Amino acid sequence: NPDTSSVMKLSLAYLTLTLLGSTSAFFHPSPIALPTSLYSATETTSGVERNGNFAKLAGGYLFPEIGRRRNAYLEKNPDANIISLGIGDTTQPIPPNILKGLLDGVSKLGVKETYSGYGAEQGMAPLREQISDVLYEGRISPDEVFVSDGAKCDIQRLQNMFGSKVRSAVQDPSYPVYVDTSVMMGQTGELDESTKQYDNISYMECNAENGFFPDLENSERADVVYLCSPNNPTGVAATREQLENAVKICKERGSILVFDAAYAPFIRSPGVPKSIFEIEGAKDCAIEVNSFSKYAGFTGVRLGWTVIPSQLKFKDGTPVKQDFNRVMTTSFNGASNIVQAGGMACLSPEGMKEITTLIDYYLENAKILSDTFTGMGYDVYGGTDAPYIFVGLKGASSWDTFSDILEKAEVVTIPGAGFGPGGEGYLRLSAFAPRDSVIEACERLKKVFS
Ligand code: PLP
Repeated sequence: NPDTSSVMKLSLAYLTLTLLGSTSAFFHPSPIALPTSLYSATETTSGVERNGNFAKLAGGYLFPEIGRRRNAYLEKNPDANIISLGIGDTTQPIPPNILKGLLDGVSKLGVKETYSGYGAEQGMAPLREQISDVLYEGRISPDEVFVSDGAKCDIQRLQNMFGSKVRSAVQDPSYPVYVDTSVMMGQTGELDESTKQYDNISYMECNAENGFFPDLENSERADVVYLCSPNNPTGVAATREQLENAVKICKERGSILVFDAAYAPFIRSPGVPKSIFEIEGAKDCAIEVNSFSKYAGFTGVRLGWTVIPSQLKFKDGTPVKQDFNRVMTTSFNGASNIVQAGGMACLSPEGMKEITTLIDYYLENAKILSDTFTGMGYDVYGGTDAPYIFVGLKGASSWDTFSDILEKAEVVTIPGAGFGPGGEGYLRLSAFAPRDSVIEACERLKKVFS
């Protein structure tokens, strides 16, 4: 081990040097006791203190952890034929009209007259206009749209803007990025091992009893409230009444509502809002993050956007948009021009039709999964307005069930507990797999668990 040997060499050097002056060197038992100047010269560490907030993070980020367990199983069982209903990643190819948009974006770069370099950090004006017109029907204006490389990155950028002093509230269970970025930013204390909750985050319980929507009235005030609808992981979409109530409470309390609508195009139930800006008063208190990832299979292409209403202000009167604009102009150089051309194609009439067909396919998968678990006697939630189903495990542990299903059916799922302590007792299944894999997975699950 070269690391150990270099430390040993330095230890020896230090021992020899200090022996010349003092016998106390004998009591330096390990390299840890070396003076900083010598220690920093080793190959094993730099002299930079680790950011303590990262040390607070529990384990790895959820999805790589699932991948690690899957690979560990594969190592032991190299012939296994694993089906993944785990991570919510799209599997169907990008439809032709949208693909053409991407290809046109590439071609433009090869011609002098249409070549473009750096673009506006906030996104191309025509795309911002189309997002405003097509997806928000003019409820928000183009200059309130910030085009980006995805919703996950925007959540981190919002955190960057909010800084370390805010207190956040999250649905429990929730998409792990809200909590983990809060920890990284230094907004939280340590993880309480007994509750699995970080100090200084408000965990708003979501379970079958409350329709997987938090009781905001009885939750403590937070500066920033994260709501996701349709929800990852529960697959449940919030009703108009629930969102009206959320906006009312956030306004009364002076909280900023960060609304994650990444799964909006999956909403099929009539009357269910696809955007927080369908709710009156939301422009006074809400930000919406959104993404083309699940609209059009852009998970690898990378394109999203965030809407910050001009009238939303911090306590001192500064428009939130102004500070977010500063984040974007300082640390982001605009989404890829190729990808933005693809975004334009998504929002054309042909592109929108293709998106509907694509999403219908995944929703049919969700129905197959849902029917399978219902047929086996489980309570199943979500799946009608979202690509996820959330299965109640009748009191069983979610990590144990995850392992059981992996070992007996060779199907990867996600334990509800991976999304926060409130997810214990549930399992999330993703409908993004190809149809034949979904059918095969259901057959295996029925064989093993019926
Ligand atoms: N928000 C939610 C709720 C998600 O589930 C995901 C991805 O799974 C994202 C955001 C990330 O979106 P993007 O691919 O645009 O970063």
